[in-house]
Amino acid sequence: MIDRIPQATAKRLPLYYRILQHLSSSGKKRISSSELSKVVQIDSATIRKDFSYLGALGRKGYGYDVDRLLSFLRETLDQDELTKVMLIGVGNLGTALLKYNFFKNNNTQIVRAYDNDRSKVGREIAGTAIHHLDDMLTDDNSDVPAAILTVPAGAAQSIADKLVLTGISGILNFTPVRLSVPEHIRVHHIDLAVELQALIYFLKNYPLEPNEGGDR
Ligand code: NAD
Repeated sequence: MIDRIPQATAKRLPLYYRILQHLSSSGKKRISSSELSKVVQIDSATIRKDFSYLGALGRKGYGYDVDRLLSFLRETLDQDELTKVMLIGVGNLGTALLKYNFFKNNNTQIVRAYDNDRSKVGREIAGTAIHHLDDMLTDDNSDVPAAILTVPAGAAQSIADKLVLTGISGILNFTPVRLSVPEHIRVHHIDLAVELQALIYFLKNYPLEPNEGGDR
């Protein structure tokens, strides 16, 4: 279902999901798009449009049923299915990601980590075992569709090539390297320095008015 939803909408769905889960667990039964707009800081017209792609239509004067919305989102985001992820490069950043339980709300799990430092191999971090990179192709990773790449820049491309051989579909790339991978593999690049530069640029050039939101 998600591939028929515009990418911009698809990117907002996990945020809606997280917020609605909080609202549901605090006993909230229904919510209007304008109320939700204040919480997620996305304008209400965009929210209504996003929800209409899910097939969720709010009722005038009532708003949206929170639990119904959650079940629409869960279905769309495949929240009921566990998605396995591997992480390569258990250094400063990789260790922090393994320790940070950011997968708590959606059923995503880092099932194993790889490093080429033998002193790290065999250890566990927050329940995730560290294997040697040499074992990546012999371990059964056929049910692991995504990888997080947190190795030094110099190792990134050769590891990406190896990841391709495991049958991976997506890479969350934290390294500064623009990876070259076959077309069917999706690479999302995360660069905190670029994000910070962008924020500083916007602060200088597009300061927000008190009631305005930013780019979410
Ligand atoms: P680090 O040196 O602490 O960790 C790198 C890890 O990769 C080490 O455990 C090392 O043993 C392992 N490694 C090295 N070569 C390897 C190989 N060939 N195969 C498997 N493992 C290998 O580095 P870090 O500070 O954690 O940074 C990791 C990467 O993340 C770097 O590319 C860095 O530029 C990048 N980074 C990105 C951001 C961001 O916002 N995108 C922020 C910080 C760091």
